Amino acid sequence: MSNPETKESLNFIEQIVEEDIKNQKHEGRVHTRFPPEPNGYLHIGHASSIHLNFGIATKYQGKCNLRFDDTNPEAEDTSYVEAIKKDLTWLGFDWEGREYYASDYYEQLYGFAEKLIKEGKAYIDDLSQEEFNKIKGTVTEPGQNSPFRERSVAENLDLLARMRKGEFAEGEKVLRAKIDMASPNMHMRDPIMYRIRYAEHHRTGNTWCIYPTYDFAHGQSDAIEGITHSLCTLEFEHHRPLYNWFIEQLGLFPSRQIEFARRNLGYAITSKRKLLKLVEEGLVDAWDDPRMPTVSGLRRRGYTPESVRMYAEKAGIARRDNLVDPALLESSLREHLNQIAPRVMAVLKPLKVILTNYPEGQTEQLPIENNPEDASMGSREMPFGRELYIEQTDFMEDPPRKFIRLGPGRVARLKGAYIIECEDFVKDENTGEITELHCRYIPESKSGADTSGIKVKGTLHWVSASHAIQAEVRLYDRLFTVENPGGDKEKPYTDFINPDSLEIISHAQLEPSLATAKPGERFQFQRLGYFCVDTRYSKPDHLVFNRSVTLKDTWAKKNKK
Ligand code: ATP
Ligand code: MG
Repeated sequence: MSNPETKESLNFIEQIVEEDIKNQKHEGRVHTRFPPEPNGYLHIGHASSIHLNFGIATKYQGKCNLRFDDTNPEAEDTSYVEAIKKDLTWLGFDWEGREYYASDYYEQLYGFAEKLIKEGKAYIDDLSQEEFNKIKGTVTEPGQNSPFRERSVAENLDLLARMRKGEFAEGEKVLRAKIDMASPNMHMRDPIMYRIRYAEHHRTGNTWCIYPTYDFAHGQSDAIEGITHSLCTLEFEHHRPLYNWFIEQLGLFPSRQIEFARRNLGYAITSKRKLLKLVEEGLVDAWDDPRMPTVSGLRRRGYTPESVRMYAEKAGIARRDNLVDPALLESSLREHLNQIAPRVMAVLKPLKVILTNYPEGQTEQLPIENNPEDASMGSREMPFGRELYIEQTDFMEDPPRKFIRLGPGRVARLKGAYIIECEDFVKDENTGEITELHCRYIPESKSGADTSGIKVKGTLHWVSASHAIQAEVRLYDRLFTVENPGGDKEKPYTDFINPDSLEIISHAQLEPSLATAKPGERFQFQRLGYFCVDTRYSKPDHLVFNRSVTLKDTWAKKNKK
């Protein structure tokens, strides 16, 4: 896995942009675009591309357009357009009203096609895809010309117009660029510009039954918008000569395409098509399932926009594909939540504690700070009484010497409260489960006024049993069991789904201040991690929390200087 580090120096794209500004190319103007196809929800890979495109624009006082590359009516939908805009806004990026669509350029693109036909640079081909594949040649062998390549301009124009009118069936005819069937670059061997599709488009409806290919639309859309730097992922490197060819033949604005490596995340899938399959097959809840590496999934999981941007910044860009360690993403979230999340106490697997020497019916309110990292976040009061809950794992019947929590005869501090000593425990003879602890509290050991002189190593979180509120808590693990689930030649990625990626705890006990927690609100449950209120399932009378991330920062550990 890569180990991206933050660099003060310029990345290779910034170097190119600065060089262009220095040379006053396009009068020093910088204009980028983020061009999603609305065929799914944005994922963490897109977040990198967004951060890059909008980041370059901001850094060089330029602009960044939002352009929907919607040339594939079957897969695209308005619901995806809306979801993409929502995610972009949430991430904190503003396209300032420059919301464009490749479909807005259909008429113009059609005009470009006619122009190429008139100049003898495009023709209507009747070969089927299979027939064309037979004459296409291979990387080492040149192809042969289609028998339809030499049609007259008039015939080509007429056929294109009739394709548009809907006189032919799907696949019966295509429009091809007339370039070079012997080119060593397969993309230059008379690529398709238009194909027939009787599909309703989410914006143009049934106006069109011929649609431009991505290859014929993308570069021209950039040119129409005056994009100076067209940043795209590596798989388009070999398409660049074709894009340049179209632009030169048509005499359009020459955007400069620069490729960078996809930012894919380890133990995750970053492909809309594959993520859609997880949704369709019910392998996850929805696009925003908190285990999904989608922007909406991260949001529901409890990620902040700041943390996703911090991740994108730290992951940076690369020239070669590699996987980014998910620990970097988690670490970015921890770093932000550590500053902003109030600390609260919650017990996930409760063990009842009875303080035998605490008066029955008595309660006291103990002040507890909300965030030791930020005194301005103040403090709150937590009720303390004779019956409490602590975590089952904080007691051992027969603890090893190094165990610093509770065991028979052992002491521990209850965070913000008192030191307690375990005197006895109750065990269910049938199940072997410990059901109750009997402890003595030390009145002189009150936090902030401890005169007991007792030294304790362990501090435990707790809640008052009679005041606690019950909630559902969802703990997540990685969705896939292997680092590169999409990279296996033999098995489909769905074979690597982690069967234990979701654990639901239905009876967690929470401190009473959480009763009013609102969907989306984030907290640190002390010692347990960062949690947020689920925006889909949580209700005032049935709170549901998602664990966003644990507290253990493996990234920081691995990258310690
Ligand atoms: P997917 O396979 O998920 O559909 P895509 O590249 O086809 O990805 P687009 O909607 O075309 O998705 O992507 C919009 C922009 O985001 C493109 O410029 C694309 O290069 C970029 N992008 C997509 N995935 C990544 C990634 N993993 N890392 C960086 N940029 C990405
Ligand atoms: Mg795409």
